[in-house]
Amino acid sequence: MDGPPIDDGAVAVVDDQIADVGRSDEVRTRQRGAVTDLGDVALLPGLINAHCHLDFTSLRGVIAPQRSFADWIRQINGLRRDLSEEDFLASIASGFAEAQRWGTTTIANIESMPALLQKMAPPPLRTWWFAELIDVRRTEPAEKMVEEALSFFQGKENWPGGFGVSPHAPYTASPELSRLAAVSAAQRDMLLTMHLAEAEEEMEMFRAGGGPLFDLLQSLGRSMDDCGRGKTPLAAMLDRQTIDERWIVVHLNELAEEDFARLAGGPRFHIAHCPRSSRYFQHRPFELRRLRDLGFNICLGTDSLASNSSLSLFSEMQAVREAHPWLSPQEILEIATVNGARALHQEQILGKIRVGAQADLIALPIENGRGDAYEKIIAWSDAVPWMLVAGCAKSCSRGR
Ligand SMILES: [Zn+2]
Repeated sequence: MDGPPIDDGAVAVVDDQIADVGRSDEVRTRQRGAVTDLGDVALLPGLINAHCHLDFTSLRGVIAPQRSFADWIRQINGLRRDLSEEDFLASIASGFAEAQRWGTTTIANIESMPALLQKMAPPPLRTWWFAELIDVRRTEPAEKMVEEALSFFQGKENWPGGFGVSPHAPYTASPELSRLAAVSAAQRDMLLTMHLAEAEEEMEMFRAGGGPLFDLLQSLGRSMDDCGRGKTPLAAMLDRQTIDERWIVVHLNELAEEDFARLAGGPRFHIAHCPRSSRYFQHRPFELRRLRDLGFNICLGTDSLASNSSLSLFSEMQAVREAHPWLSPQEILEIATVNGARALHQEQILGKIRVGAQADLIALPIENGRGDAYEKIIAWSDAVPWMLVAGCAKSCSRGR
């Protein structure tokens, strides 16, 4: 992703970094060291999942698609109440194994129970942990909630990846909480992420002050003062606070014409699109072309297995291909690699095979020859047989 494909290529890895890239004969004259011949493969950067909830890996296939988004929220809230800490930890571990199976080397993970990090070993993949913040049924001051959530990241500074905060959505995080989250994140140079403008019921709630999601949240005790004022979810959020390049905004399916006008003149945050989760919920088609043409960086997420069938970003790329056949396969692969790296502010060291980048690599046994290599890559549907994360193969424990 840092130039055209190289035939008979080689990559030199020293510790966790890429030290050389080029044709095999050239790299071998410049570098010494053990050689692993991967055979006829496409070697590419590991994929980057920009939105996931590993907490709910155990809920695959458990919730049938509901007629109402609010009903789905009721279902998952009911199910998660029955999960123990051990269930959550097992769910996260199996989520990592599954992501790894499908060639994902970096995950932006929303963590609803950040206290669990204290009970975990360093993750096997490069992970950005976003502490989820929800105060619909507030029990403590917003400031204390943010401080406590972030305290669980202490002592984890050497874990591969990073940390951030996630006010869940404008309907579950109060203006005070999401503003405080942004202040704390800025002080610590952390990223933020939030679900926004996901469902039609969210639009109905903010704009018209009614509908199933409005009713659910009102019944939970949320102040509904910000609803029924004709504002879209995006407008309601942008009127609260600035959403800048520090933010990964997730979904953004439900946009009105006035939203596009506002986006044209506003700051450029990053957008995580979750094609198969959107399909599960039958959300409005994602306006990928318009948002891309406005200059937004669009990356790819799987969302959780409570609304998806696997953590395969190849399947997500295939869903993008189906919905947007005008996009080239190369651009689709960029969405799952370089764009995700940009969203995580890691464009210099992730998402590309270049000197100085982290050695996060995957190999697919794809035959060279007729047909577009990118087309073959995004059509990949098997487990990924070979991977390096930070220069380490699966069996290696250095630095993890
Ligand atoms: Zn999500």
